[in-house]
Order: sequence, then C-alpha cells, then structure tokens
Amino acid sequence: MNSESISAVKNLLNSPKNIVVVGHKNPDGDAIGSCLGLANFLRQKGHLVSVLMPNDFPTFLKWIPEAANITIYEKDVKKSKELVTKADIIFTLDFNALNRTGGLQDLLENAKATFVLIDHHQQPDDYATIIYSDVTMCSTSQMVFHFMEALDGLDFLNAAIATQLYVGMMTDTGSFRFPATTATTHRVIANLIDAGAKNSEIHQNVYDTNSPDRLKLLGTALNNLVLIPEYNTAFITLSQEELNTNNFKKGDTEGFVNYALSIEGIVFAIIFIENKKEGIIKISLRSKGDFSVNEFSRSHFNGGGHTNAAGGRSLLSLPETIAEFSSLLPNYKKALSYGS
Ligand code: 5GP
Ligand code: MN
Repeated sequence: MNSESISAVKNLLNSPKNIVVVGHKNPDGDAIGSCLGLANFLRQKGHLVSVLMPNDFPTFLKWIPEAANITIYEKDVKKSKELVTKADIIFTLDFNALNRTGGLQDLLENAKATFVLIDHHQQPDDYATIIYSDVTMCSTSQMVFHFMEALDGLDFLNAAIATQLYVGMMTDTGSFRFPATTATTHRVIANLIDAGAKNSEIHQNVYDTNSPDRLKLLGTALNNLVLIPEYNTAFITLSQEELNTNNFKKGDTEGFVNYALSIEGIVFAIIFIENKKEGIIKISLRSKGDFSVNEFSRSHFNGGGHTNAAGGRSLLSLPETIAEFSSLLPNYKKALSYGS
C-alpha cells in the first residue's frame, strides 16, 4: 500500500464510521476470510461494521469464526439495502469490478459511501476512491494482514482474525503451492499461527469434510474429462442433470478443475458447469506457466481473474459452449505449446 493511500485511509478512519465490507458473488475462502478479518479489525478500532455477500457460501466455510453474522443479500434484501444506504465507507474485497457482485451491483453503484478496494485480481475497474490493488499477492487475505500492518494495527491481530486470514491464504494458494506463494506469504502465515490460527485443524475443516455425494460427483467429472493433447489442454463438463443426480450443493465442484491441470503436460484446464436456473454455463479456467487464462476469459467468456486462475460464463448451451471453446484453441496453438 503506498503512503498516500495509507494516510487517506487513516484519515477516513479517524472517527467512528458505519462500514460495510463486501465480497464477490459465490464467495470463496479468500472472500469470506478477508472480509471477516478486516471487519473484526475495524470493529476493534471502534467502527460499526457489517459483512455483506451477494449470495450464500459453501458449508465448508460456515465454521469460520463470525461467519454466521454475514448478511446474505439474496436471503435478506431489505437489510442489505439498509446497510448499503447507511454506510459511510464500503470496503470491496477480493474482486475488482462491481459486476462481480450479482444482485448487489445496482445498490453499490448508487451508494453514497466512499469506496475502498482491496484486491489482487488483474485490471481493476475505477470505482473506488482508495485503491489497494496488488496482483502479485497470493490472496486478498494476505493483503488484509498488510493493511493492518500499514495502519500500525497488528496489536489487534487475534485468534479469530488469524483463523479467518489463514483460511483465505490457504484456499487461494491451493495450500501454499501456487506460484504467488512467497516467502512473505509464509512469514505472514507464521504470524497468524503465533496469533492462534490452528493450521492443521483449519485444513481439516476445509478439506476433510467431503460428502459421499461430492465424491460421486467428482467421479462423474473425472469420467467426463476430455484431453486435447495437440493443445496441451484438458476440459471437464458437468451437466445440470449430472449435478442433480449427485445432489449437488454449493461448493461441491470447488477444485475439480485442478485434477485436469494436474495431468502431466497439460498447461490449460477448464471446467464447464451447467446452471439451468441462471441460464448460464459457469466456467473455471486454470493454467501453468505464461498462458493467461485472465486474457482468454476476458476475450471469450465474459470473465477474468489472474494469469493462472480465472472464471467466466457462457450464455450458449453446454454443447455449443464446448464447440466454441474447441474452435478457439487453434488460435492459441503457440501460446499453449508446453513450456512456452
Ligand atoms: P473460479 O474459477 O474459482 O470461480 O475463479 C478463479 C479466480 O478468478 C478467482 O480468483 C475469482 O475471483 C476470479 N474470477 C472468477 N470469475 C470472474 C469474473 O467473471 N471476472 C473476474 N474479473 N474474475 C473472476
Ligand atoms: Mn482471492
């Protein structure tokens, strides 16, 4: 965070404020962890703080301290409107464009509050007065730690914040193995463990709570895996019918795409998940090396994210989406050659 932003934030927070901390639609571990951690910190500093998410989040994140206090827009529209309307400051965390907030987008676009953005995704939009954007960071949760540090606030780091930020850093780094994991990441993690984050327990709470249904769905997904060796690419499809057969619950498909990327020689992996209710195909893209799935998704699938992890959507049917995807690959032959 640069010194100008630090003094602007200090200025903004020098008297008690009504604050709302907002995460993105389909919140993941980093969205939930970073928002809760920041909220706990700001509350200790004397502000009135609420955490607001566009829609619900998976069961494997519900155990996180203070997660039960999160307001979910889709479940409580009236309260959400009230919070946004009364806010002096709105922190938006772990996303960089208001169109990532689903039904909250309109409300946020019309809010009178001062916006502060904290995020690590590429190419942030220009809606916030104060922007703390750093695409080299492994997670927004790590940025919240640095934010506290910049405000001389590490004395406020308690076991709840440590746990919340640990979850975000762990999930966004694939348990500290993705390239954005740095020595600083591990130093921050050491601080979180010292402050009371129970690392092994957290790992179990998030990853070792599979339902039999989820594992069966994973079986279906792996069965549907298609390899395109010519482009070092692999993709997975899941139809709505397949999701229904396996009693799909929110979060069940989290991480499936990584199995496709784990295949030797594969540099580009993608999963297409049909969502009949929303009339879209939800897409998750992952890559190894320099091939930018952020650019690919921005160009073809209304999405974005990071170089090696991005999301997107298609309004075509599942077979049409696959056909379109397959027709795009020849344009990327060189970029997809191994080790490029
Ligand atoms: P996932 O595949 O897990 O949904 O998303 C992968 C990464 O890309 C996450 O960091 C997520 O926040 C980001 N992402 C997902 N969808 C979008 C999108 O539509 N636009 C942008 N800018 N980022 C996205
Ligand atoms: Mn993140």
